[in-house]
Amino acid sequence: MRILITDHPLISHKLTSLRDEKTPSPTFRQLAEELVTLLAYEATRDIRTEMVKIKTPVTETTGLKLSQPTPVVIPILRAGLGMLEGMTRLLPTSEVGFLGMVRDEETLTASTYADRIPGNLRGRQVFLLDPMLATGGTLISAIELMIERGANKIVAITLLSAPEGIAAVEKAFEGKDVDITIVTGALDQKLNEKGYIVPGLGDAGDRLFGVV
Ligand code: URA
Repeated sequence: MRILITDHPLISHKLTSLRDEKTPSPTFRQLAEELVTLLAYEATRDIRTEMVKIKTPVTETTGLKLSQPTPVVIPILRAGLGMLEGMTRLLPTSEVGFLGMVRDEETLTASTYADRIPGNLRGRQVFLLDPMLATGGTLISAIELMIERGANKIVAITLLSAPEGIAAVEKAFEGKDVDITIVTGALDQKLNEKGYIVPGLGDAGDRLFGVV
């Protein structure tokens, strides 16, 4: 498994505003989108391409285009929805699936309540979107589902990650024949006793969409 912690100054700048408890929802949403677009640039570095012939107004030449089948972008509901627009801006031809997962705040385990993901992901590159990699429970369940459907190249994009979450994902897929990359905006200090990332940014879903 590869972990990519981006250290671009623009990402750090936007993350600082995102963390600030005074940042209101509309600004938070805008920042989350901008951050994902910046992270997506790194996350798509290994995206599959193929050589094609084209004609410019001047001459014939060759160039690279994204290969078929198109990648699949899957936001993990609800908070991952706040990352979708920023990702599809960079990958407009991708297909979008939705995975609804909820974390039991007592046991911190994740369960699936919505599954709108292609039944067959063989040969597809999968980009999972979830702003917070906390205990890792949600991401592990999501990756297991992708593997069950045949995916073997999975990139997870998170805004913040906790060391505990990264370690849990690493342990869960150790020795498995699947190519997993986590691209994250920052590696925070730890989880608190409620499973929140410290210093973190609070509940990402609530900060994006309000408490409903
Ligand atoms: N989910 C969140 O929204 N925030 C955290 O800090 C951890 C999990």
